Amino acid sequence: RTRVYKFGGKKTDGDGSMKPLLGGKGANLAEMSRIGIPVPPGFTITTEACTEYNELGRKTLKELLKDEVESAVLGIEQMMKSKFGDVENPLLLSVRSGARVSMPGMMDTVLNLGLNDEVVAGLALKTNNERFAWDSYRRFIQMYGSVVMGVKPHNKEDLDPFEEIIDALKEKRGIDLDTDFTVADLKDLVYDFKNVVLKQTGKPFPTDPWEQLWGGIFAVFNSWNTERARYYRLINKIPNDWGTAVNVQTMVFGNMGLSSATGVAFTRDAATGENVFNGEYLINAQGEDVVAGVRTPQQITKLGSERWAKLATISEEDRVEKYPSLQELMPELYDELNEYQKKLETHFKDMQDLEFTIQEGKLWILQTRNGKRTGAAMVKIAIDSLKEGLIDDKTALLRIDPNKLDELLHPIFDTKSLKKSHVIAQGLPASPGAATGQIVFFADEAKKYKNSILTRIETSPEDLEGMNIARGILTTRGGMTSHAAVVARGMGKCCVSGAGSIQIDYKKRIMRANGKEFHEGDWISLDGATGNVYEGKVPTIEPELSGEFADIMKLSDKYIKMQVRTNADTPKDARVARSFGAQGIGLTRTEHMFFEVDRIKAMREMILADTVKARKQALSQLLPMQRSDFEGIFEAMEGLPVTIRLLDPPLHEFVPHQLVTQKELAEDMHISLEAVKSKIAELEEFNPMMGHRGCRLGNTYPEITEMQTRAIIEAALDVKEKGIITTPEIMVPLVGTVHEFTEQEKIIRNTAKQVFKERNDSVDFLVGTMIEIPRAALVADKIAEHAEFFSFGTNDLTQTTYGYSRDDSGKFLPVYIEKGILKEDPFEVLDQEGVGQLVNIGIERGRKTKPKLKVGICGEHGGEPKSVAFCHNQKMNYVSCSPYRVPIARVAAAQAAV
Ligand code: PEP
Ligand code: MG
Repeated sequence: RTRVYKFGGKKTDGDGSMKPLLGGKGANLAEMSRIGIPVPPGFTITTEACTEYNELGRKTLKELLKDEVESAVLGIEQMMKSKFGDVENPLLLSVRSGARVSMPGMMDTVLNLGLNDEVVAGLALKTNNERFAWDSYRRFIQMYGSVVMGVKPHNKEDLDPFEEIIDALKEKRGIDLDTDFTVADLKDLVYDFKNVVLKQTGKPFPTDPWEQLWGGIFAVFNSWNTERARYYRLINKIPNDWGTAVNVQTMVFGNMGLSSATGVAFTRDAATGENVFNGEYLINAQGEDVVAGVRTPQQITKLGSERWAKLATISEEDRVEKYPSLQELMPELYDELNEYQKKLETHFKDMQDLEFTIQEGKLWILQTRNGKRTGAAMVKIAIDSLKEGLIDDKTALLRIDPNKLDELLHPIFDTKSLKKSHVIAQGLPASPGAATGQIVFFADEAKKYKNSILTRIETSPEDLEGMNIARGILTTRGGMTSHAAVVARGMGKCCVSGAGSIQIDYKKRIMRANGKEFHEGDWISLDGATGNVYEGKVPTIEPELSGEFADIMKLSDKYIKMQVRTNADTPKDARVARSFGAQGIGLTRTEHMFFEVDRIKAMREMILADTVKARKQALSQLLPMQRSDFEGIFEAMEGLPVTIRLLDPPLHEFVPHQLVTQKELAEDMHISLEAVKSKIAELEEFNPMMGHRGCRLGNTYPEITEMQTRAIIEAALDVKEKGIITTPEIMVPLVGTVHEFTEQEKIIRNTAKQVFKERNDSVDFLVGTMIEIPRAALVADKIAEHAEFFSFGTNDLTQTTYGYSRDDSGKFLPVYIEKGILKEDPFEVLDQEGVGQLVNIGIERGRKTKPKLKVGICGEHGGEPKSVAFCHNQKMNYVSCSPYRVPIARVAAAQAAV
């Protein structure tokens, strides 16, 4: 097996298609070298070698790599006519990470490898630049010392020890800039740096270049598994077993004087998508100076420089003198760079993010990759590239990362304010958006402030109203499908869940985060896209939906095969979803309507009723309310299909748990507090999710099904009078046996018949079922003899197939994912291997009985791109998702169909 691939010079082993093996950086270096872009020669050690290293360890891997690495270095030496470790004519190398997809800043890099006390003298002589040689040497010790040898600050408040030494010397010498150090200063730094290394690590700084090289290679491999890299992979869903490649490359120097420079450039604007070449550079500097922001970088183009000066309120005179663009300062090199950037974008057919270095008037391209971009830029670049003829319409569609569309639909923080803000905790990015508000700890106090952040250990259905009022929701417990997360996504509301480092004391009404106490009324801000919690107010901006967004939707419609419906419980949700292109409602969860203040009472009376008569009495109060809800929804949907599900959750969720409310209820119902309490205790279940819920409710209290059916049918008849013809789809939840369904069906059909007779009018309606219990999938052929449609409730189907409680999985799923026991949260991304089999069996058996059976999905997975693709492949008729995910599902469904 080959573990080392060479690039640059005459022979290049790899090419751009080999990203899995060579990593993004390695594959693109090879490709650039093939198309005649000047890249410093080097070689890539494969990602497979990284995986081998993780299994076999350093010693074995070094043995496996030794011959190939040594021969590759020899190749570079011959090309560059210099020698690694040579005192007279030294070759210096860089060692960089490069995973299959870029993980910017997450892994390690070491530059200037190959220097020691003798070689530095040779470098000075060879370049006739003593200052440059010693500057490179001190940088090398600094970087290698921290990356490879692990030199760290003593306390987390401290600077790293190297920076401390630099600052002390600057102070002593009365200078501000690194560039003001003399050769003698740099020699002092080298001496002091080496001492720090020895003191902190107990090991002398290695003088043997080969030892340095191997140290660098293994440090890069190790950096795949640092905490921050693992976390980055977790939130970006990058598998832990991919590994990183290592790129070893000839050093070229941007710090060799005034004819040298280094910079970063984008072929288009990564924030807005505008088609303008842009970027930053520094004269006489090395790459990390641009990124680290020690000096103010200058703009590459004249246009960019002018725009920048305007923002920074710098006069044109000052700009030209102090901050000239590369275009103005080195016009010929700029032209060459401009030519390469065009060539690279045309070749890779996407916006490129590239790094370059100019060494004494010679331009080198160090890396190129498809540039990271905002959601807005993603959409604009895809559509512009299509219009420019760079890509075809299928490619444009595939360029959209559906999940990123989310950013376009919610208010956002502007990046400038975020940089100035202080992170106090981090949780899961449960529902995107940006929220700033005052802390409240109880749902019923959400209205206390105009902008509140409902801050809870966890939320329950009782908190729904408060959640709706709050600007954002923060919980310290619970995962991506915790109640708070599901509801927040449905509302399109920003939510950070499971921020475990925060402690909440409900009694004292305080939360502790990052060593500080926050009280009710204190301002915090949530970033639902990253899971960051900030102290204080961070200003937000409203997103604007661009014309390109509509173009992407049009493009999706061209290819999409499935319909996209929405999960909506209110006319408002329904309207939002329609504005995003929803073609119907796939799930109305009727229970959410019962939580409103004026209804919960009647609901509670119904639940606490001792007799059928009393229950019917309470239900009759709920009937007109439900009817008007359904009317509102039918009107909002104007004849598009609407699926309404009968009552599902365990009744215990509706009863009051606070003493005050229990007292009120007792008074209202003219019964004793004790009676209320004992009834509530009676309703308590050990395992409510598996208990008295779903159709088990309707089958034990048929009058609930009767009332709900009546409300649905009467509402349909009412809107019919207004000219809206709707065909309600009445859905029975949590069916496991045929009889559970047919019993409910009987009640529904009889009730409808009764209403038609009373009203002397009728409407068409369907009776179908959710498939969310494994047994239902297995007997789908029998259920399909009766049910007129299936809707897969993959939330419950996941819960019951895995045996993972939806509400408790937050305790172990993050650990499972961290340890690689699971690749993804199955409540977020449908588990195609297991749960998917049941879906497949359900559809196959259902359609064996009824070939035209209408099948959809209404679990949270209906808005998750990979799961949507699965639904397409399973030939479902539709997916249904929360309103704000409708555009995402449309694009994902279209992508699955191209
Ligand atoms: C499901 O179980 O997937 C579903 C849609 O129903 P709920 O989330 O309301 O249980
Ligand atoms: Mg369910």
